[in-house]
Amino acid sequence: MQVGLKIKQVKTRTPSIVVQAVTEEDVAVTVKFAKEHGLKLTVKSGGHSYAGYCLNHGGIVLDISSMNKVSIDHENMTVSIQGGAVWKDAYSLLKEKDLSLMMIGGQCPTVGVSAFLLGAGLSPFSRRYGLGIDNLLEMTIITANGEKVTVTHDDIDPAKRDLFWAIRGGGGGNFGVTVNVKTKLHNLRDPNGTVVCGELTWNLPKQEADFKAMMNIWNTTTWPEEVCADAIWRYDDKNQLQGQMTIIYNGKMSQCLKDLAPLFDFNPDNGLKAMHWTDWEVIDASFDVFSQVYYHHGSFIFAEGGITPKVTAIITQLMEEAKMLVPDSSPNSASECHILWDHIGGATAKLKPEDTAFPWRDGVYVATVRAQWVDPALHKRMFEFVDRAKELLLPYSIQGKAAYINYIDSTVENWQEAYYADNYPRLQRVKSHWDPTNFFQFEQSIEPVGHKRTHHRKKPWEKLTPPTPQQLGNPKTKNHVYATNAHIRRSMLSN
Ligand SMILES: Cc1cc2nc3c(=O)[nH]c(=O)nc-3n(C[C@H](O)[C@H](O)[C@H](O)COP(=O)(O)OP(=O)(O)OC[C@H]3O[C@@H](n4cnc5c(N)ncnc54)[C@H](O)[C@@H]3O)c2cc1C
Repeated sequence: MQVGLKIKQVKTRTPSIVVQAVTEEDVAVTVKFAKEHGLKLTVKSGGHSYAGYCLNHGGIVLDISSMNKVSIDHENMTVSIQGGAVWKDAYSLLKEKDLSLMMIGGQCPTVGVSAFLLGAGLSPFSRRYGLGIDNLLEMTIITANGEKVTVTHDDIDPAKRDLFWAIRGGGGGNFGVTVNVKTKLHNLRDPNGTVVCGELTWNLPKQEADFKAMMNIWNTTTWPEEVCADAIWRYDDKNQLQGQMTIIYNGKMSQCLKDLAPLFDFNPDNGLKAMHWTDWEVIDASFDVFSQVYYHHGSFIFAEGGITPKVTAIITQLMEEAKMLVPDSSPNSASECHILWDHIGGATAKLKPEDTAFPWRDGVYVATVRAQWVDPALHKRMFEFVDRAKELLLPYSIQGKAAYINYIDSTVENWQEAYYADNYPRLQRVKSHWDPTNFFQFEQSIEPVGHKRTHHRKKPWEKLTPPTPQQLGNPKTKNHVYATNAHIRRSMLSN
C-alpha cells in the first residue's frame, strides 16, 4: 500500500486493513462496521497529509481514491467532484473541456480535493477568487453514524448549517467522510485561458542588496489581486542560495509585466512564461510516491507587511545554518531545507474570522520552513533546526501563534488556537452534535465538548513495533511497494 511508504516518517503508522471504497455505500458500510467493532478508522484520499494523519496504527484505512469522478456544469458554472479525487483529476477535465475555466485548487496535482477544501485551500488564484472554501457550494458527507448528509450555506436545519460552517476550514478527518463536493467555476481573465507562470530569481549573496531592496518594495506595496507571488529561499542545482518569487499571474504577459514593473528594477533573472495553468501544475508535480526522505516542517501565517527587513534577515540566517546541516541542498540531493511564503490576501481577506472555521482572514503570507533529509543520523539536528526556525519566526506571525491547518504539524502544542483561534469552541459544539463519541479522531482532531480522549480496544497487532524505514527499504516500482507492504503485513500477522 503506497500511502504507508510515501514518506519515511520517524514515526511509522501501519494499519491492519485497507478498504478501497468504490461507492458511497462502501464508505457507509465501512464506517458502520468500524464503529460497531470499536476499530480506528482514518480516511485517505491523496495521501499528502504532512503528518501522515491519513494513516493509523492497527486500524482501518478507508482509501477512497478510486472515487474520483469529476463533472462540469458549464451553464451554472459549477463543478462536482467525488470525495477521493485529486486536483489532477479535476484539472484534466478543464484541459478536455475549456482551458479558460478555473477552479480554486492547489498547485500540486496529486493533493486530494476534499481534504484541501476541508482545510481551507490556498490557490494561486485565491487573491482574486477567494480560498477553496469561499467557492464551496455544497459538501456530501458520510457521518459517524454511516448516514449520508449534504450540507450547504442555505440549509434551513441549523445543525446542517453549522456543519457547513465547520467543514470550511475545520480540516480533514474530523466530521465524517466527504464523498462529494460542488464548487464554483470561474472564467480566467484572458478568454484564451493563458496565465503567466514562472520564477524571478536573485542569486544570493551576490545580489543580496537588490533582493533586500526588492523585498522591501514587495512588502510595502498593495499588489493587484491578479498577482500571486510566492517568495522562496532555496539552494539551486549548483548548491547556490537563491531568493525567488514564483509568479502566477491571472492575465496576459503584457499586463503582467506592467503590474510587476517595480520588481524588474532590481535585476532578477526573468523566467516568466505565458502558458495554460494546466501546464504549470504538471511542471510543479514534485511529490513523488516513492520518495524516501525524512521530513519535518513548521507553518506560520503572517499579516500584510509581514516580510520585514528583520524577518528577511532571520530567514537568510536560517538558510545559512541549513547549509551547515545539509551541505548539499541542491535539487539533485534528496536532502534540502527551504523557506516558502505562499501569497494570499485580496479576496481571501473579505470574510470575517467567524464566517468560516478558518479564522486567519488577515493572513497575507502562509509560510513554511521545510526540512528533508535521508540520513537517520540527522534526525535530532533537523528537528532542532525546525524548532529553532519556529522560535525565531513565530513571534512575527499573527498573534504570535497562527499556523495553517492544511500544513498540519504534529509538534504544534497549542494547535487548537494555532489552527482555529477563537473558532475552536464552536467547532467542538459542531463535533458534539455530529460525532458525539469522537469516532473520527487522530492526534490533532477536534474533540467533542468535555470529551476526554478514549483509547480504542487494543488489537494484538497494536502491541507490535511498527516497521522502521530501514525495514521498509527503498521500493522502485509500484509492484515492489505492494510486495513490500504485503510482506510486512504477513510478518506482523504471523508474529
Ligand atoms: C506537495 C504538497 C503541496 C500542497 N499544496 C497545497 C496548496 O497549494 N494549498 C493548500 O491549501 N494546501 C496544500 N497542501 C496541503 C494539502 O492541502 C493537505 O495536506 C491536504 O490535507 C492533503 O489532502 P490529501 O487528500 O492529499 O491527503 P490525505 O493524507 O489523504 O488526507 C489528509 C487529511 O484529511 C483526511 N481526509 C482525506 N480525505 C478525506 C475525505 N474525503 N473526507 C474527510 N477527511 C479526509 C485524512 O484522514 C487526513 O487527516 C499541499 C501538500 C503537499 C504535500
